[in-house]
Amino acid sequence: TIDGSAEIQEARMELPILAEEQRIMEAIHNYPTVVICGETGSGKTTQVPQFLYEAGFGDKSGPYPGMVGITQPRRVAAVSMAARVGTELGEDHAKKVAHQIRFDSSVSRNTALKFMTDGILIREIAKDFILAKYSAVVIDEAHERSSNTDILIGLLSRIVDLRQSMNKEDSTVKPLKLVIMSATLRVQDFLENKMLFRDGPPPLLQIEGRQYPVTMHFARRTQSDYLEQAFQRICTGHRKLPPGGMLVFLTAQDEIATLSKRLKDALGQMPSDELHIERDDRESESEEDPEEFEVEDLAPRPKTPHVHILPLYSQLETRDQLRVFERPPEGSRMIVLATNVAETSLTIPGIRYVFDSGRAKEKRYDDVSGVQSFEIGWISKASASQRAGRAGRTGSGHCYRLYSSAIYERDFEEHAMPEVLRMPIEGIALQLKSMELHNVVNFPFPTPPDRQGLAKAERLLMYLGALTKDGKITPSGRRLSAFPLSPRYAKMLSVGHQYNCMAFTLVLVAALATPNLFVPEHHLGAAKDTEQQMITDEDRLAEEARLKRRSDYNHAQNLCSKLSRTSDGMKAFTALQGYLKAQSKDEYCGKTFLLPKSMYEASNLVEQLTSIAGSVAPLHLSISSPRHSTPSKDQIAALQQFVAAGFLDQIAILASLAPSPPYLGRNPKRAIDVPYLPLFRINNSRRTEDTDIRDVAVYVHPSSVLAHLAVADMPKYIIYSHLQRATPSSIESAKKPRTR
Ligand code: ADP
Ligand code: MG
Repeated sequence: TIDGSAEIQEARMELPILAEEQRIMEAIHNYPTVVICGETGSGKTTQVPQFLYEAGFGDKSGPYPGMVGITQPRRVAAVSMAARVGTELGEDHAKKVAHQIRFDSSVSRNTALKFMTDGILIREIAKDFILAKYSAVVIDEAHERSSNTDILIGLLSRIVDLRQSMNKEDSTVKPLKLVIMSATLRVQDFLENKMLFRDGPPPLLQIEGRQYPVTMHFARRTQSDYLEQAFQRICTGHRKLPPGGMLVFLTAQDEIATLSKRLKDALGQMPSDELHIERDDRESESEEDPEEFEVEDLAPRPKTPHVHILPLYSQLETRDQLRVFERPPEGSRMIVLATNVAETSLTIPGIRYVFDSGRAKEKRYDDVSGVQSFEIGWISKASASQRAGRAGRTGSGHCYRLYSSAIYERDFEEHAMPEVLRMPIEGIALQLKSMELHNVVNFPFPTPPDRQGLAKAERLLMYLGALTKDGKITPSGRRLSAFPLSPRYAKMLSVGHQYNCMAFTLVLVAALATPNLFVPEHHLGAAKDTEQQMITDEDRLAEEARLKRRSDYNHAQNLCSKLSRTSDGMKAFTALQGYLKAQSKDEYCGKTFLLPKSMYEASNLVEQLTSIAGSVAPLHLSISSPRHSTPSKDQIAALQQFVAAGFLDQIAILASLAPSPPYLGRNPKRAIDVPYLPLFRINNSRRTEDTDIRDVAVYVHPSSVLAHLAVADMPKYIIYSHLQRATPSSIESAKKPRTR
């Protein structure tokens, strides 16, 4: 309606960013890249695209005929912001605004402003590197520093340069404008990055925020059952607080479902009187701080209104996510139960109260296995302030933090670390390669990961057959990139799958990727000096017990080595298989001398890998049965070959069998003194006849099963998981083989 749009125009005029339109557009005209920082609510997302549109960007007959692309980290933001901007532009122009997310697009030939997820733009760049269809790209929510955002910023810095030099040669090719938008100054640190911005740092425009005041309330105590705590607070709050929507931050879909049901049961259709009695009882039991709600007028409300509870999380269908933007039923209170999807971008109309659990499910990466998992952890202070800010978008509000200020001060980081610095480096290298970006080492990351690490990762990927000699991704590399897993282990799984041996390979990978499964031998206690007399009976008993324990230990070690006398990998496999089968895990760990915590982690890893493998390469075999059965001789040999496939660059040959070996010296007497030479040289020194063997050789670690072999039985080749430099005082360097 006319009234409606007049209202919108009025609200729009009040946004602080409106006063900055001229400054912003001048900067965009004068510089290829511009950075805009402004608090949530200052109007970045809704207004900057409109400034561009009004300046003629996206007008096919104007000087900037290409579209304006605006990226959002989340689907719901892309769809809802497109709708909002369409509404603000008014009927005549609304059809110029479109969104594109995976499986859903409203883009047409007329689209001038396109809101999309960052993943969509990355895919478009892979198809058309110069982004010919665009005249400007706006990267929104850059402060989140997701790996997609960082990669996009790096890519676009190059595309902007490219389009500029193309424009110099051929004026029909228009330059591309890049606008980076952020809710905090989190992006400031990379503006000086010369790899990224070759012509010096882009201008940084700071926009004053327009935020209604939000009053903070910390909990007196931090409870571990934050779901229960949230339930209590919401119930009390619903009864005591004046009208206004509630937004509750939780960590995951299942929590949202649980709380939603409990709230519906407790607040749903019950007559309000009954509700009061029940609630008062609860309150006196709870440890909550009832005064916290008394900041507002507590005039008794005649009737507790009904609640209108809506979920909001990323797996929810977009259509259902968008329900939070609809007006709630007359007289009811809207309660949105959300994950951090609602943390930035979105303005949910009418929200006055935020309840913040302070937690989020975060992507974590295991250092060794590279497995991604989602774990619940504290959010950063920056996130907490974003969450609180949701209560002050359309009026003043309150934020109830379900944690104490002491915890907030002590345990919350200022900012979350950029995702690329938390990811395993081979994973990043492989991701760039899969986007046909060959120069991984010099990729202009806003905050670059260790470049030497990247170079090493690239070499490893080449050894694994993921890249060709000239650094291009191979079909096998594409398969590996689908596993959210270190490429060594991804390779093992991929080969295991190829040979129809996936179930065992999963267990083997989990066993190899978990450090320290076994109780180390030296934890058993040292042997008594044999010269020493056993004086008392007590001494004798203690010594007997020690000997018994040692013999149990050896027995357990032997049992675990039953599938192979020469493979630490198979030993770990057997131990883990036994654990998975065992009825009582603790008893099994005790009698097999295994560390329960490591075993628990390894078995979790089996579960995770199973679901990963299932989603990447649908398994036709039943996972559960073969993984419990004993592998045949052929399967054992195959498993050891899979390890070799993943550790191709970490194979060593018996020095005496190496082609043109250096002088070997005396014949070794012990297995741990037998020299091996790595096939891929570890240092660059050239070997000659005079080279001292101890400078180039590696040796078996005393904890390996190989250390117990007779010298004559030492295998010709060994595969090792890592090398460890011997301390200067000891003569032999140590080496820990995993398997043969
Ligand atoms: P920023 O991107 O800087 O966080 P936005 O452009 O998203 O800011 O929003 C600016 C303001 O516009 C909000 O604070 C709110 O007042 C208004 N607004 C945005 N989207 C909506 C919406 N869907 N419904 C009502 N008001 C909205
Ligand atoms: Mg925004």
